[in-house]
Amino acid sequence: MALRNIVVEGDEILRKTCREVGEVTDRIRETLDDMVDTMHEAMGVGLAAPQIGIMRRMFVAEPEPGGKIYYFVNPEITYREGSVEGEEGCLSVPGYFGIVDRPEKITIKGLDRDGNHQEYTFEGFEARVMCHEYDHLDGILYKDKAKEMFDESQVGYEE
Ligand SMILES: [Zn+2]
Repeated sequence: MALRNIVVEGDEILRKTCREVGEVTDRIRETLDDMVDTMHEAMGVGLAAPQIGIMRRMFVAEPEPGGKIYYFVNPEITYREGSVEGEEGCLSVPGYFGIVDRPEKITIKGLDRDGNHQEYTFEGFEARVMCHEYDHLDGILYKDKAKEMFDESQVGYEE
């Protein structure tokens, strides 16, 4: 396992559409594990493959620090319900946060770290995290959807 460099906004990699993963191989698992390490090091709640320069449809998420880690390979959001606004930030857009509308509830399916099919329903913050990471796979950044953006230093934002 190893830490990877996080790609930041301005790099065209973040704007490309990722390709599907053919099979969850040991190499894919190694990448997923590196993504978890990198997410933890950066104190993020999610990380998508293009954020470490890998153009594959996969992301990891840990909405509750120290809680369950979710692995999604070839994810598909099959259901969306409602709309709620909330704060978001992104490891690839350091120093900012914004207000974004996201579904209140989603159903998402995909393959896990073992290549098994999984389906989950998420609400609230968890749904927000999954939608944010999923967007990365299509080259979309949260700031594209944000109603307002804030510079952390301007407003003295603290986590
Ligand atoms: Zn992000």
